[in-house]
Amino acid sequence: MINIAIDGPCGSGKSTVAKLLAKELNILYLDTGAMYRACGLKAKRMGIDCLDEKGVSSFIYNIDLKVKYENGTQHVYLDGEDVSLAIRENEVSMLASNISSLEIVRKKMVEMQRYVASMQDCVLDGRDICMYVLPNANYKFFMTASAEVRAKRRYEELISRGQTVDYNSLLVEINQRDYNDSHRECAPLAIAPDAEVIDTSNMSIQEVVAHIVNKVRKGEE
Ligand code: C5P
Repeated sequence: MINIAIDGPCGSGKSTVAKLLAKELNILYLDTGAMYRACGLKAKRMGIDCLDEKGVSSFIYNIDLKVKYENGTQHVYLDGEDVSLAIRENEVSMLASNISSLEIVRKKMVEMQRYVASMQDCVLDGRDICMYVLPNANYKFFMTASAEVRAKRRYEELISRGQTVDYNSLLVEINQRDYNDSHRECAPLAIAPDAEVIDTSNMSIQEVVAHIVNKVRKGEE
């Protein structure tokens, strides 16, 4: 069984790499950030503050959240509705960052993620995969890049989706999310001692994918 764990801050390129990697190796890709985004969206729709533990506990244990693959693309369903696009709205990023700091939310999501990973070869990307979700993963990576490069990537991604955004606010937001993610009590974003650090500031996505694929293929020989 192959489990590949990729952690890193937002904009490090980890989801793009993980997606391509899964295709190249013909294994499943689970975007764990999308799951926290769906939780944030659910809270918003219910008018519940993402940091209100009591409010969030009213729905999290029975959340109807499903990740499905349709024609090779991941779709996230919340209460039966395909929210794959809605969870990519910029506003949802901060909701996800806030709600993911609650232990009750992490427990529930991690349980779902471990189940998926125990059933098939897969690559998971997130913030706590190497150290917490899959500590026994066969391959572990921590992808990073400077905050400026990450803000620029995020800017281009959102603009290409037709959203109106400002580069400087994105940079502030990225620094804020990095701070939140690395300072929360429960499973903070950190570099696992046994993970390989890949700085993608000056690397193309193809270079990163090729590097990881090589490593995995060598390991399988
Ligand atoms: O990766 P993405 O930007 O979609 O993740 C949204 C938010 O979800 C992150 O800022 C982080 O707070 C949270 N997250 C997490 N643990 C993960 C994946 C995402 O806390 N494994």
